[in-house]
Amino acid sequence: MSFDFSGKVAIVTGAGGGLGFAYAKYLAEKGCNVVVNDLGGDTFGYDGQPNSKVAEEAVKKINALGKGKAVANGSDVAKFEGAEAMVATAIKHWGRVDILINNAGITSPAVFPDIDRAEVDLHIGVHVMGAINTMRAAWPHMVKQKYGRIINTASDSMLGFAPQVVYPTAKSALVGLTRNAGLLGQNYGINMNVILPAAFTRMSGLLPPGSFRDHLERDFQPDRLAPVVAYLCHEKCDITREIFSIGGGKFSRVVMASSDAIPVDMTMETAEAQLKKVMTDDVSGLKLMKSTFDDLKNLGFSDAECQMFYDMSATQGEHTPITAVKIDSVDNVWDLVIKSPVGDQMSTLVLKSSGGKVTGHVLNKEHGNQQVLEGRVENGDTLVWKCKLTKPVPMTLTYTAQVDKDQRIGGKVVGTLMGKTVMDSKFSGKPVFGDPAEKAKAESAQQAQLDGQKKPGFLSRLFAKA
Ligand code: NAD
Repeated sequence: MSFDFSGKVAIVTGAGGGLGFAYAKYLAEKGCNVVVNDLGGDTFGYDGQPNSKVAEEAVKKINALGKGKAVANGSDVAKFEGAEAMVATAIKHWGRVDILINNAGITSPAVFPDIDRAEVDLHIGVHVMGAINTMRAAWPHMVKQKYGRIINTASDSMLGFAPQVVYPTAKSALVGLTRNAGLLGQNYGINMNVILPAAFTRMSGLLPPGSFRDHLERDFQPDRLAPVVAYLCHEKCDITREIFSIGGGKFSRVVMASSDAIPVDMTMETAEAQLKKVMTDDVSGLKLMKSTFDDLKNLGFSDAECQMFYDMSATQGEHTPITAVKIDSVDNVWDLVIKSPVGDQMSTLVLKSSGGKVTGHVLNKEHGNQQVLEGRVENGDTLVWKCKLTKPVPMTLTYTAQVDKDQRIGGKVVGTLMGKTVMDSKFSGKPVFGDPAEKAKAESAQQAQLDGQKKPGFLSRLFAKA
Protein backbone atom coordinates (compact mmCIF):
# COMPACT_ATOMS: atom_id res chain seq x y z
CA MET A 1 0.00 0.00 0.00
CA SER A 2 1.76 3.16 -1.09
CA PHE A 3 -0.35 5.50 1.00
CA ASP A 4 -0.71 3.85 4.34
CA PHE A 5 -2.28 5.44 7.43
CA SER A 6 -1.45 2.62 9.85
CA GLY A 7 -0.73 3.96 13.32
CA LYS A 8 -2.37 7.28 12.52
CA VAL A 9 -5.48 8.56 14.28
CA ALA A 10 -8.14 10.75 12.69
CA ILE A 11 -11.16 12.61 13.95
CA VAL A 12 -13.83 13.25 11.32
CA THR A 13 -16.70 15.46 12.43
CA GLY A 14 -20.20 14.98 11.04
CA ALA A 15 -19.13 11.57 9.76
CA GLY A 16 -22.40 9.74 10.36
CA GLY A 17 -23.23 10.02 6.66
CA GLY A 18 -22.51 11.99 3.50
CA LEU A 19 -19.01 13.29 2.91
CA GLY A 20 -17.75 12.76 6.44
CA PHE A 21 -18.57 9.07 6.32
CA ALA A 22 -16.82 8.73 2.95
CA TYR A 23 -13.62 10.29 4.38
CA ALA A 24 -13.72 8.21 7.58
CA LYS A 25 -14.27 5.00 5.64
CA TYR A 26 -11.52 5.74 3.14
CA LEU A 27 -9.00 6.57 5.89
CA ALA A 28 -9.93 3.41 7.81
CA GLU A 29 -9.53 1.34 4.64
CA LYS A 30 -5.97 2.66 4.55
CA GLY A 31 -5.33 1.56 8.12
CA CYS A 32 -6.18 4.76 10.01
CA ASN A 33 -8.00 4.58 13.34
CA VAL A 34 -10.92 6.99 13.29
CA VAL A 35 -13.15 8.80 15.75
CA VAL A 36 -16.47 9.09 13.94
CA ASN A 37 -18.23 12.14 15.31
CA ASP A 38 -21.87 12.97 14.62
CA LEU A 39 -24.64 14.22 16.86
CA GLY A 40 -27.41 12.92 14.63
CA GLY A 41 -28.95 16.28 13.80
CA ASP A 42 -30.95 17.22 10.74
CA THR A 43 -29.73 19.24 7.79
CA PHE A 44 -31.03 22.53 9.16
CA GLY A 45 -29.33 22.30 12.53
CA TYR A 46 -29.87 20.70 15.78
CA ASP A 47 -31.98 21.61 18.76
CA GLY A 48 -32.32 18.44 20.81
CA GLN A 49 -30.08 16.21 22.86
CA PRO A 50 -27.00 15.04 20.96
CA ASN A 51 -26.72 11.30 20.56
CA SER A 52 -24.21 8.98 19.00
CA LYS A 53 -26.64 6.61 17.22
CA VAL A 54 -25.78 7.82 13.72
CA ALA A 55 -22.08 7.75 14.54
CA GLU A 56 -22.42 4.22 15.97
CA GLU A 57 -24.10 2.97 12.80
CA ALA A 58 -21.25 4.44 10.74
CA VAL A 59 -18.70 2.86 13.08
CA LYS A 60 -20.28 -0.58 12.63
CA LYS A 61 -19.91 -0.28 8.85
CA ILE A 62 -16.29 0.87 9.11
CA ASN A 63 -15.28 -1.80 11.61
CA ALA A 64 -16.89 -4.46 9.41
CA LEU A 65 -14.21 -3.67 6.82
CA GLY A 66 -11.65 -5.13 9.21
CA LYS A 67 -8.98 -2.48 8.55
CA GLY A 68 -8.44 0.59 10.76
CA LYS A 69 -10.63 0.74 13.85
CA ALA A 70 -13.43 3.24 14.43
CA VAL A 71 -15.09 4.55 17.58
CA ALA A 72 -18.19 6.69 17.83
CA ASN A 73 -18.60 10.11 19.40
CA GLY A 74 -21.92 11.95 19.57
CA SER A 75 -20.71 15.39 20.65
CA ASP A 76 -21.84 18.71 19.27
CA VAL A 77 -18.88 20.41 17.56
CA ALA A 78 -20.39 23.80 18.35
CA LYS A 79 -19.73 23.15 22.04
CA PHE A 80 -16.33 23.68 23.52
CA GLU A 81 -16.74 20.57 25.71
CA GLY A 82 -18.03 18.60 22.73
CA ALA A 83 -14.76 19.13 20.90
CA GLU A 84 -12.77 18.34 24.03
CA ALA A 85 -14.74 15.08 24.38
CA MET A 86 -14.01 13.88 20.85
CA VAL A 87 -10.30 14.57 21.26
CA ALA A 88 -10.40 12.80 24.63
CA THR A 89 -11.99 9.80 22.87
CA ALA A 90 -9.07 9.65 20.42
CA ILE A 91 -6.51 9.98 23.20
CA LYS A 92 -8.23 7.37 25.38
CA HIS A 93 -8.27 4.79 22.57
CA TRP A 94 -5.07 5.49 20.71
CA GLY A 95 -3.09 8.15 22.59
CA ARG A 96 -2.79 10.63 19.70
CA VAL A 97 -4.58 12.76 17.11
CA ASP A 98 -2.89 13.08 13.71
CA ILE A 99 -5.75 14.12 11.47
CA LEU A 100 -8.72 16.37 12.06
CA ILE A 101 -11.34 16.74 9.36
CA ASN A 102 -13.82 19.47 10.24
CA ASN A 103 -16.72 18.38 8.10
CA ALA A 104 -19.83 18.75 10.27
CA GLY A 105 -22.22 21.18 8.68
CA ILE A 106 -25.77 22.38 8.38
CA THR A 107 -27.55 24.51 5.86
CA SER A 108 -30.46 26.90 5.74
CA PRO A 109 -33.32 27.64 3.39
CA ALA A 110 -33.55 31.23 4.67
CA VAL A 111 -32.92 34.04 2.23
CA PHE A 112 -31.29 37.24 3.44
CA PRO A 113 -32.49 39.44 5.13
CA ASP A 114 -35.19 37.08 6.25
CA ILE A 115 -33.07 35.47 8.94
CA ASP A 116 -33.20 35.55 12.68
CA ARG A 117 -30.53 35.66 15.33
CA ALA A 118 -30.90 31.97 16.17
CA GLU A 119 -30.18 31.08 12.56
CA VAL A 120 -26.99 33.15 12.54
CA ASP A 121 -25.84 31.74 15.87
CA LEU A 122 -26.45 28.20 14.64
CA HIS A 123 -24.30 28.67 11.55
CA ILE A 124 -21.49 30.46 13.35
CA GLY A 125 -21.68 27.81 16.07
CA VAL A 126 -21.43 24.73 13.84
CA HIS A 127 -19.19 26.00 11.06
CA VAL A 128 -16.92 28.58 12.68
CA MET A 129 -16.85 27.63 16.35
CA GLY A 130 -17.03 23.95 15.39
CA ALA A 131 -13.68 24.22 13.62
CA ILE A 132 -12.13 26.50 16.23
CA ASN A 133 -13.25 24.23 19.06
CA THR A 134 -11.88 21.03 17.56
CA MET A 135 -8.63 22.63 16.41
CA ARG A 136 -8.12 24.16 19.82
CA ALA A 137 -8.70 20.82 21.54
CA ALA A 138 -6.48 18.83 19.16
CA TRP A 139 -3.72 21.46 18.97
CA PRO A 140 -1.69 20.60 22.10
CA HIS A 141 -1.54 16.95 21.01
CA MET A 142 -0.42 17.85 17.51
CA VAL A 143 2.15 20.28 18.89
CA LYS A 144 3.49 17.58 21.20
CA GLN A 145 3.71 15.16 18.29
CA LYS A 146 5.11 17.89 16.04
CA TYR A 147 2.68 16.57 13.47
CA GLY A 148 -0.85 17.21 12.36
CA ARG A 149 -3.10 17.44 9.33
CA ILE A 150 -6.30 19.49 9.41
CA ILE A 151 -9.02 19.93 6.81
CA ASN A 152 -11.60 22.69 7.18
CA THR A 153 -14.69 22.34 5.05
CA ALA A 154 -15.91 25.56 3.50
CA SER A 155 -18.09 25.80 0.41
CA ASP A 156 -17.84 27.34 -3.03
CA SER A 157 -20.94 29.30 -2.03
CA MET A 158 -18.51 31.66 -0.31
CA LEU A 159 -17.53 32.88 -3.77
CA GLY A 160 -21.05 34.23 -4.22
CA PHE A 161 -24.32 32.38 -3.93
CA ALA A 162 -26.97 35.03 -3.78
CA PRO A 163 -29.94 33.62 -1.88
CA GLN A 164 -28.09 32.40 1.19
CA VAL A 165 -25.90 34.79 3.08
CA VAL A 166 -25.37 33.32 6.51
CA TYR A 167 -24.09 29.91 5.39
CA PRO A 168 -21.45 31.24 2.96
CA THR A 169 -20.43 33.95 5.41
CA ALA A 170 -19.74 31.36 8.08
CA LYS A 171 -17.91 29.15 5.57
CA SER A 172 -15.67 32.07 4.51
CA ALA A 173 -14.42 32.43 8.06
CA LEU A 174 -12.75 29.05 7.70
CA VAL A 175 -10.41 30.49 5.09
CA GLY A 176 -9.18 33.13 7.54
CA LEU A 177 -8.90 30.51 10.27
CA THR A 178 -6.87 28.15 8.11
CA ARG A 179 -4.55 30.73 6.61
CA ASN A 180 -3.70 32.18 10.02
CA ALA A 181 -3.62 29.10 12.25
CA GLY A 182 -1.70 27.48 9.40
CA LEU A 183 1.15 29.93 10.03
CA LEU A 184 1.29 28.85 13.66
CA GLY A 185 1.16 25.24 12.57
CA GLN A 186 4.29 25.63 10.44
CA ASN A 187 6.36 25.65 13.61
CA TYR A 188 5.02 22.25 14.58
CA GLY A 189 4.55 20.26 11.38
CA ILE A 190 0.83 20.95 11.44
CA ASN A 191 -0.53 21.47 7.93
CA MET A 192 -4.06 22.57 7.18
CA ASN A 193 -6.12 23.24 4.10
CA VAL A 194 -9.60 24.33 3.15
CA ILE A 195 -11.81 22.28 0.87
CA LEU A 196 -14.86 23.36 -1.08
CA PRO A 197 -16.65 20.06 -1.71
CA ALA A 198 -19.34 19.29 -4.25
CA ALA A 199 -21.22 16.02 -3.71
CA PHE A 200 -24.65 14.50 -3.78
CA THR A 201 -25.56 14.00 -0.13
CA ARG A 202 -28.48 14.42 2.23
CA MET A 203 -27.73 18.14 2.19
CA SER A 204 -27.47 18.71 -1.56
CA GLY A 205 -30.26 16.16 -2.12
CA LEU A 206 -32.63 18.89 -0.88
CA LEU A 207 -32.18 20.67 -4.21
CA PRO A 208 -35.29 20.73 -6.40
CA PRO A 209 -35.48 18.16 -9.20
CA GLY A 210 -33.83 19.19 -12.44
CA SER A 211 -30.74 18.65 -14.51
CA PHE A 212 -28.39 20.23 -11.97
CA ARG A 213 -29.55 17.83 -9.26
CA ASP A 214 -29.50 14.89 -11.70
CA HIS A 215 -25.94 15.69 -12.74
CA LEU A 216 -24.87 15.99 -9.13
CA GLU A 217 -26.50 12.67 -8.24
CA ARG A 218 -24.97 10.90 -11.22
CA ASP A 219 -21.37 12.12 -11.03
CA PHE A 220 -20.70 13.64 -7.62
CA GLN A 221 -20.73 10.76 -5.13
CA PRO A 222 -18.98 11.52 -1.81
CA ASP A 223 -16.56 8.61 -2.37
CA ARG A 224 -15.05 10.47 -5.30
CA LEU A 225 -13.69 13.22 -3.03
CA ALA A 226 -12.10 10.93 -0.48
CA PRO A 227 -8.73 10.23 -2.20
CA VAL A 228 -7.89 13.93 -2.58
CA VAL A 229 -8.96 14.72 0.98
CA ALA A 230 -6.99 11.72 2.29
CA TYR A 231 -3.91 12.80 0.33
CA LEU A 232 -4.09 16.25 1.93
CA CYS A 233 -4.12 14.41 5.28
CA HIS A 234 -1.14 12.22 4.47
CA GLU A 235 2.32 12.77 5.90
CA LYS A 236 3.75 12.90 2.38
CA CYS A 237 1.69 16.00 1.66
CA ASP A 238 3.40 19.22 2.71
CA ILE A 239 0.79 21.56 1.26
CA THR A 240 -0.65 23.95 3.79
CA ARG A 241 -2.93 27.03 3.91
CA GLU A 242 -4.38 26.35 0.47
CA ILE A 243 -7.93 26.07 -0.81
CA PHE A 244 -9.14 23.25 -3.07
CA SER A 245 -12.45 22.78 -4.79
CA ILE A 246 -13.17 19.05 -5.11
CA GLY A 247 -15.99 17.02 -6.65
CA GLY A 248 -17.11 14.71 -9.42
CA GLY A 249 -13.67 13.18 -9.84
CA LYS A 250 -11.93 16.53 -10.34
CA PHE A 251 -10.29 19.14 -8.19
CA SER A 252 -8.85 22.62 -8.59
CA ARG A 253 -6.75 25.05 -6.57
CA VAL A 254 -8.58 28.22 -5.56
CA VAL A 255 -6.37 31.22 -4.82
CA MET A 256 -6.44 34.77 -3.54
CA ALA A 257 -4.70 37.06 -5.97
CA SER A 258 -4.15 40.76 -6.37
CA SER A 259 -3.34 43.29 -9.02
CA ASP A 260 -0.29 45.52 -8.59
CA ALA A 261 -1.12 48.32 -6.19
CA ILE A 262 -1.50 51.31 -8.45
CA PRO A 263 -0.99 54.87 -7.22
CA VAL A 264 -3.75 57.37 -6.63
CA ASP A 265 -3.38 60.99 -5.64
CA MET A 266 -5.73 62.73 -3.24
CA THR A 267 -8.56 63.10 -5.73
CA MET A 268 -11.57 60.96 -6.53
CA GLU A 269 -10.89 61.59 -10.21
CA THR A 270 -7.70 59.51 -10.11
CA ALA A 271 -9.46 56.90 -8.02
CA GLU A 272 -12.09 56.62 -10.75
CA ALA A 273 -9.50 56.45 -13.53
CA GLN A 274 -7.32 53.89 -11.76
CA LEU A 275 -10.27 51.72 -10.78
CA LYS A 276 -11.03 51.30 -14.46
CA LYS A 277 -7.56 49.82 -14.90
CA VAL A 278 -7.94 47.43 -11.97
CA MET A 279 -11.44 46.28 -12.85
CA THR A 280 -10.47 44.14 -15.79
CA ASP A 281 -11.32 40.53 -16.43
CA ASP A 282 -7.79 39.97 -17.70
CA VAL A 283 -6.30 38.38 -14.60
CA SER A 284 -3.09 37.14 -16.21
CA GLY A 285 -1.00 39.73 -14.35
CA LEU A 286 -2.40 38.99 -10.90
CA LYS A 287 -0.06 38.00 -8.10
CA LEU A 288 -0.78 35.26 -5.59
CA MET A 289 -1.51 36.57 -2.11
CA LYS A 290 -0.03 33.84 0.08
CA SER A 291 -0.11 35.88 3.24
CA THR A 292 -0.89 39.33 4.60
CA PHE A 293 2.71 40.28 3.85
CA ASP A 294 2.14 39.94 0.12
CA ASP A 295 -0.52 42.59 0.39
CA LEU A 296 1.59 44.82 2.64
CA LYS A 297 4.56 44.50 0.30
CA ASN A 298 2.30 45.38 -2.61
CA LEU A 299 1.42 48.56 -0.71
CA GLY A 300 5.10 49.42 -0.30
CA PHE A 301 6.26 47.93 3.01
CA SER A 302 9.69 46.33 3.10
CA ASP A 303 10.41 42.75 4.17
CA ALA A 304 12.00 44.05 7.38
CA GLU A 305 8.96 46.20 8.19
CA CYS A 306 6.65 43.25 7.60
CA GLN A 307 8.84 41.13 9.84
CA MET A 308 8.63 43.72 12.58
CA PHE A 309 4.85 43.92 12.21
CA TYR A 310 4.69 40.14 12.48
CA ASP A 311 6.92 40.00 15.54
CA MET A 312 4.84 42.65 17.25
CA SER A 313 1.59 40.78 16.68
CA ALA A 314 3.17 37.47 17.49
CA THR A 315 4.29 38.67 20.90
CA GLN A 316 1.04 40.36 21.89
CA GLY A 317 -0.23 37.39 23.82
CA GLU A 318 2.89 36.47 25.72
CA HIS A 319 2.43 36.10 29.44
CA THR A 320 4.46 33.00 30.12
CA PRO A 321 7.13 33.42 32.77
CA ILE A 322 10.71 33.14 31.66
CA THR A 323 12.43 29.86 32.27
CA ALA A 324 15.18 30.33 34.85
CA VAL A 325 18.47 28.53 34.50
CA LYS A 326 21.03 28.31 37.25
CA ILE A 327 24.22 30.31 36.90
CA ASP A 328 27.10 28.53 38.53
CA SER A 329 29.97 30.86 37.87
CA VAL A 330 30.79 34.21 36.37
CA ASP A 331 32.05 32.78 33.09
CA ASN A 332 29.23 30.35 32.74
CA VAL A 333 27.14 30.35 29.61
CA TRP A 334 23.49 29.65 30.17
CA ASP A 335 20.34 29.44 28.18
CA LEU A 336 17.33 31.61 28.73
CA VAL A 337 13.97 31.46 27.14
CA ILE A 338 12.71 35.00 27.05
CA LYS A 339 9.23 35.87 25.96
CA SER A 340 8.97 39.54 25.18
CA PRO A 341 5.62 41.20 25.61
CA VAL A 342 4.75 44.58 24.17
CA GLY A 343 2.94 47.66 25.34
CA ASP A 344 2.05 47.67 28.97
CA GLN A 345 2.34 43.96 29.51
CA MET A 346 4.85 42.90 32.12
CA SER A 347 8.04 41.10 31.32
CA THR A 348 9.61 39.19 34.17
CA LEU A 349 13.22 38.18 33.77
CA VAL A 350 14.34 35.62 36.32
CA LEU A 351 17.96 34.61 36.69
CA LYS A 352 19.32 32.23 39.24
CA SER A 353 22.71 32.95 40.64
CA SER A 354 24.80 31.20 43.20
CA GLY A 355 26.47 34.54 43.87
CA GLY A 356 23.94 35.71 46.43
CA LYS A 357 23.68 39.45 46.12
CA VAL A 358 22.60 40.51 42.66
CA THR A 359 21.46 43.87 41.45
CA GLY A 360 20.57 44.87 37.96
CA HIS A 361 18.54 46.50 35.31
CA VAL A 362 17.25 45.52 31.91
CA LEU A 363 18.17 47.46 28.84
CA ASN A 364 16.87 47.11 25.37
CA LYS A 365 19.67 48.45 23.22
CA GLU A 366 17.82 48.91 19.96
CA HIS A 367 14.90 50.78 21.42
CA GLY A 368 16.36 52.51 24.43
CA ASN A 369 15.91 51.86 28.10
CA GLN A 370 12.79 50.13 29.20
CA GLN A 371 11.21 51.17 32.39
CA VAL A 372 12.63 49.17 35.25
CA LEU A 373 10.02 48.55 37.86
CA GLU A 374 11.72 46.14 40.13
CA GLY A 375 14.98 44.26 40.62
CA ARG A 376 15.29 42.17 43.70
CA VAL A 377 16.88 38.98 44.92
CA GLU A 378 14.49 36.28 46.03
CA ASN A 379 15.33 33.18 48.05
CA GLY A 380 18.95 34.26 48.27
CA ASP A 381 19.88 33.23 44.74
CA THR A 382 17.19 34.33 42.33
CA LEU A 383 17.21 37.71 40.73
CA VAL A 384 13.78 38.81 39.64
CA TRP A 385 13.52 41.73 37.28
CA LYS A 386 10.26 43.15 36.29
CA CYS A 387 10.25 45.62 33.48
CA LYS A 388 7.65 47.28 31.41
CA LEU A 389 8.40 47.28 27.71
CA THR A 390 7.34 50.68 26.55
CA LYS A 391 8.01 50.29 22.85
CA PRO A 392 7.02 47.72 20.27
CA VAL A 393 9.17 44.63 20.32
CA PRO A 394 11.60 44.57 17.41
CA MET A 395 12.92 41.47 15.80
CA THR A 396 15.93 41.37 18.08
CA LEU A 397 16.25 42.55 21.61
CA THR A 398 19.52 42.93 23.42
CA TYR A 399 19.43 42.85 27.15
CA THR A 400 22.34 43.82 29.34
CA ALA A 401 22.43 43.63 33.06
CA GLN A 402 24.65 44.36 36.02
CA VAL A 403 25.36 41.47 38.33
CA ASP A 404 27.27 41.93 41.57
CA LYS A 405 28.35 45.39 40.39
CA ASP A 406 31.43 44.12 38.55
CA GLN A 407 30.04 41.35 36.40
CA ARG A 408 28.22 41.94 33.19
CA ILE A 409 25.87 39.68 31.32
CA GLY A 410 24.56 40.27 27.85
CA GLY A 411 22.78 38.46 25.13
CA LYS A 412 20.49 38.60 22.21
CA VAL A 413 16.95 37.36 22.00
CA VAL A 414 15.50 36.81 18.60
CA GLY A 415 11.87 37.89 18.86
CA THR A 416 9.11 35.43 19.47
CA LEU A 417 7.19 34.20 16.46
CA MET A 418 3.57 33.36 17.05
CA GLY A 419 4.15 32.70 20.70
CA LYS A 420 7.23 30.58 20.19
CA THR A 421 10.68 31.85 21.01
CA VAL A 422 12.73 31.09 17.96
CA MET A 423 16.05 31.14 19.63
CA ASP A 424 17.04 30.39 23.18
CA SER A 425 19.53 33.13 23.80
CA LYS A 426 23.01 32.54 25.00
CA PHE A 427 23.88 34.93 27.77
CA SER A 428 27.42 34.92 29.00
CA GLY A 429 28.76 36.39 32.19
CA LYS A 430 31.47 39.01 31.57
CA PRO A 431 33.25 41.44 33.84
CA VAL A 432 32.30 45.10 33.52
CA PHE A 433 35.28 46.93 32.05
CA GLY A 434 36.73 50.01 33.67
CA ASP A 435 38.32 51.25 30.41
CA PRO A 436 35.56 52.46 27.99
CA ALA A 437 37.65 51.52 24.89
CA GLU A 438 38.20 48.00 26.17
CA LYS A 439 34.52 47.74 27.03
CA ALA A 440 33.46 48.86 23.54
CA LYS A 441 35.86 46.35 21.96
CA ALA A 442 34.52 43.48 24.06
CA GLU A 443 30.95 44.50 23.35
CA SER A 444 31.51 44.57 19.64
CA ALA A 445 33.19 41.14 19.73
CA GLN A 446 30.26 39.78 21.68
CA GLN A 447 27.81 41.41 19.30
CA ALA A 448 29.53 39.80 16.31
CA GLN A 449 29.32 36.44 18.02
CA LEU A 450 25.64 36.92 18.77
CA ASP A 451 24.89 38.09 15.23
CA GLY A 452 26.35 34.84 14.01
CA GLN A 453 23.74 32.97 16.04
CA LYS A 454 20.84 34.79 14.45
CA LYS A 455 18.35 32.62 12.63
CA PRO A 456 16.71 33.57 9.35
CA GLY A 457 13.67 35.77 9.77
CA PHE A 458 10.14 34.60 9.41
CA LEU A 459 9.71 35.99 5.94
CA SER A 460 12.71 34.26 4.49
CA ARG A 461 11.53 31.02 6.00
CA LEU A 462 7.94 31.53 4.82
CA PHE A 463 8.98 32.28 1.30
CA ALA A 464 11.92 29.93 1.21
CA LYS A 465 10.01 27.63 -1.09
CA ALA A 466 8.52 30.34 -3.28
P1 NAD B 1 -24.67 15.91 5.49
O1 NAD B 1 -25.88 16.59 6.05
O2 NAD B 1 -24.86 14.57 4.88
O3 NAD B 1 -23.55 15.77 6.60
C1 NAD B 1 -23.34 16.70 7.62
C2 NAD B 1 -23.21 15.93 8.91
O4 NAD B 1 -22.82 16.84 9.94
C3 NAD B 1 -24.52 15.28 9.34
O5 NAD B 1 -24.34 13.90 9.54
C4 NAD B 1 -24.88 16.00 10.64
O6 NAD B 1 -25.53 15.18 11.59
C5 NAD B 1 -23.51 16.45 11.12
N1 NAD B 1 -23.61 17.60 12.02
C6 NAD B 1 -24.34 18.73 11.87
N2 NAD B 1 -24.17 19.55 12.91
C7 NAD B 1 -23.31 18.93 13.75
C8 NAD B 1 -22.75 19.28 15.00
N3 NAD B 1 -23.07 20.44 15.60
N4 NAD B 1 -21.90 18.42 15.60
C9 NAD B 1 -21.59 17.24 15.01
N5 NAD B 1 -22.11 16.86 13.81
C10 NAD B 1 -22.96 17.69 13.19
O7 NAD B 1 -24.03 16.92 4.45
P2 NAD B 1 -22.73 16.81 3.54
O8 NAD B 1 -23.11 17.27 2.21
O9 NAD B 1 -22.04 15.51 3.72
O10 NAD B 1 -21.85 17.99 4.17
C11 NAD B 1 -20.57 17.83 4.72
C12 NAD B 1 -19.89 19.17 4.77
O11 NAD B 1 -19.63 19.63 3.45
C13 NAD B 1 -20.71 20.27 5.44
O12 NAD B 1 -19.85 21.10 6.17
C14 NAD B 1 -21.29 21.03 4.26
O13 NAD B 1 -21.62 22.35 4.60
C15 NAD B 1 -20.13 20.94 3.29
N6 NAD B 1 -20.51 21.14 1.90
C16 NAD B 1 -21.18 20.19 1.22
C17 NAD B 1 -21.47 20.40 -0.11
C18 NAD B 1 -22.15 19.35 -0.92
O14 NAD B 1 -22.22 19.49 -2.16
N7 NAD B 1 -22.67 18.30 -0.33
C19 NAD B 1 -21.11 21.60 -0.74
C20 NAD B 1 -20.42 22.55 0.00
C21 NAD B 1 -20.12 22.29 1.31
